[in-house]
Amino acid sequence: MTITETDKKYIAHTYNRFPVELVSGRGSRFTDTAGKEYIDLGSGIGVTAFGTGDEEWKRAVTEQLDKLQHTSNLYYTEPCARLAELICTRTGMSRVFFSNSGAEANECAIKAARKYAAEHKGPDYYTIVTLKNSFHGRTLTTLAATGQDGFHKLFAPLTPGFAYADANDLEGTVALARGVKAAGIMIECVQGEGGVLPLSADYVKGLYDFCQAEDIILMADEVQTGNGRTGRLYAYENFGIKPDLFSTAKGLGGGLPIGATVLGEKLADIFSFGDQGSTFGGNPVASAGAYSILSRIDEALLASVREKSAYIFGELTGAPGVKSVSGLGLMIGILPEKPARQVVTECLEGGVLCLTAKEKVRLLPALNIPFDDLKTAVAVLKSALAD
Ligand SMILES: *Cc1c(COP(=O)(O)O)cnc(C)c1O
Repeated sequence: MTITETDKKYIAHTYNRFPVELVSGRGSRFTDTAGKEYIDLGSGIGVTAFGTGDEEWKRAVTEQLDKLQHTSNLYYTEPCARLAELICTRTGMSRVFFSNSGAEANECAIKAARKYAAEHKGPDYYTIVTLKNSFHGRTLTTLAATGQDGFHKLFAPLTPGFAYADANDLEGTVALARGVKAAGIMIECVQGEGGVLPLSADYVKGLYDFCQAEDIILMADEVQTGNGRTGRLYAYENFGIKPDLFSTAKGLGGGLPIGATVLGEKLADIFSFGDQGSTFGGNPVASAGAYSILSRIDEALLASVREKSAYIFGELTGAPGVKSVSGLGLMIGILPEKPARQVVTECLEGGVLCLTAKEKVRLLPALNIPFDDLKTAVAVLKSALAD
């Protein structure tokens, strides 16, 4: 059997894969089993921040592998301690809980908000307000947090204690949060899976002020937007706010699984022994790789992300076959005239890998994609959009 046949026979049919078998890659290029090369504008859904096989990341990971690969959280190890220090010093946050995925990082965020509200306001204050059209993960609780009915319908009953507000409707969100006695409000500053839609700056600032005034935990889900993706280290920085906590994953690990729930001052001591745990969380190999990634997302790289973003927006805005372009940094959604999946399929044939989000073509290239590769890929994308 071919790889595709074996996969179809033995892997649960949860993914509608594209007909390509990738075998190797370097930087922003992949090679398939037939030897065909692709330029990658998806970075494994915003994960390989420095592309495939990045040398420094590989060195950090393999050097750590030579020392030890796992200890459990019963003992201290350097990589996760140093990574937590780096995250906190770069963001002004106070403490980190490490897990292995975005959904787990959000689970921990929800636990933190609920515990804080229970301790400071009382047992009725457990509801988390999220936004319609949001995406927060696939576990039953983060599915409940996800404000899209389509994800819910087959899996009831979900975890109770979630309410959904209209994005960018400040008055409505405030009224809902008060009405349900919200423990916290969770937002994606740019809704990713929902169609690459940045929230309005006034709305985010308004939520921040409201949460501060009423001691409601403001949570930024930075799973997709974090780690340089939007042209700032974390997307909330674009909005001039600082949440009480943020969660992140995807790009942080550079390709190995890691999730982080990053707690601000208010929540620094929210967890006591036994409140939360993870067997793999803070794994030394994943943490060493993440340290190598995060330590290189500096001002120069962020400036180049914004520059590449401006290039893509410039090329695609108003281009033939393009209804609109949205997003921030290297997180870009293109509303095509023809179906998004058809555009992505034509790009694939032309040697370019793109993603979709709802009815849009979504681009999440590696932060360090070479300009030449980006130009070649955008030209292929433009012709797929046009004809
Ligand atoms: C991908 C994503 C998640 C879920 O992350 P997993 O690692 O797949 O669990 C949560 N929130 C947002 C905003 C995401 O984009």
